[in-house]
Amino acid sequence: MPKALSLQPTHDAALIASFSKRLIQWHKQYGRHGMPWQGITDPYAVWVSEIMLQQTQVATVLDRYPKMMQRFPSVAHLARADIDEVLAEWSGLGYYSRARNLHACAKQVVSQYQGQFPPDPLALESLSGIGRSTAGAIAAFALQVRTPILDANVKRVLARLFGIGGALQEKKVTDSLWHLATELLPRSPKDMPLYTQALMDFGATWCTAKQPVCLTQNTQCPFESSCQAKAHDQVLAIPKKLPKKKSPQFSCAVGILAHGNAVLLQKRPTKAIWGGLWSLPEGQWQGQTEGESRPTVQADTLTSEQLLELILPNRFSKKPPSLFRQSVRMGNRVKHIFSHRVLQIQVYEMVLNGKAKKELDSSMQSDEAQFIWAELGTLEQYGLAQPIRLLLESWSQAHGAAESDRCANASPIVLKNRP
Ligand code: SF4
Repeated sequence: MPKALSLQPTHDAALIASFSKRLIQWHKQYGRHGMPWQGITDPYAVWVSEIMLQQTQVATVLDRYPKMMQRFPSVAHLARADIDEVLAEWSGLGYYSRARNLHACAKQVVSQYQGQFPPDPLALESLSGIGRSTAGAIAAFALQVRTPILDANVKRVLARLFGIGGALQEKKVTDSLWHLATELLPRSPKDMPLYTQALMDFGATWCTAKQPVCLTQNTQCPFESSCQAKAHDQVLAIPKKLPKKKSPQFSCAVGILAHGNAVLLQKRPTKAIWGGLWSLPEGQWQGQTEGESRPTVQADTLTSEQLLELILPNRFSKKPPSLFRQSVRMGNRVKHIFSHRVLQIQVYEMVLNGKAKKELDSSMQSDEAQFIWAELGTLEQYGLAQPIRLLLESWSQAHGAAESDRCANASPIVLKNRP
């Protein structure tokens, strides 16, 4: 167990003066090289990579970044695109507000800056979804501006090196880290891209949160002799962690309403979780305490009318249609863990015949919300929340298999495309 924090932050002038050179030296041998976003000077390409790399594994970004750049090769292309296209391209990367901000920011750059990213980090910071550290990274990488970055990895490195023991959420801690990050910058602007990359790589691969090299490997950390956390045996105690809050738990019912090869999708409100994405019709989220499992309504006790009331609340001016007694089946139960909440999803399935679909379409009030019957083979075109995409893929496979079994063993049932 790490000891209680007791050290005082130091001002190590020798370390400050030599830091950037030593770090750049380290990067030559141990840094990450050959990433597709390295060595580029187009602020647009740098910006897209920086936003994608937030909260996403490098391996995933290596796969998705080239696709994103191919689909939206310039800020003008991105600004012109429909938000649905952007969300569809972002699908699976999570934290969808990044995609919405990316789109909004592209529009701002086109309308306010004639399609050119401003070189001033303060102006960059005023754009949608660009925080101070991201603004610093864009300016340093693309424009060689002497300006610091301070992402979570860099905060940890500096806090350990200089013995800053407070929690990173405290303003005075963040202020002193920004001050340090500025002091440590290399003198020459031309070193900024390499230095910034080296700092990111050192935090991401060597001075990691749980397994920094000084505790786990024989490799010598280039800063070990100056590192306050190492000297005081407090490497894992810095940065100070605040007690974790328990994630609230929710449950909800969703419905796969299918007709032929199409399923009914509903667009989610912009300001909700999975905002602006397509999803399945769903009931109200119910809060529940940890470990509690809400009794699931069994499908054999649920009529089609009741299912519609459950998953499409307030969508019918009159009673929901009986849909000619379509049978309701109970599907999978899925647990999805968001960053700050946990959702248990109970799936119900109902396959509608032509008359039932017509009745549903004509009796549903869609007001601002949008509904669409989407062909299963075209789901790639829709910005779908990843758990919903996976759920539909697995349902589609099972549904296809069940249909082919029935085709082989009984009277033929042919899935028809929607006209
Ligand atoms: S000595 Fe350890 S804690 Fe200090 S900078 Fe190096 S890897 Fe990080």
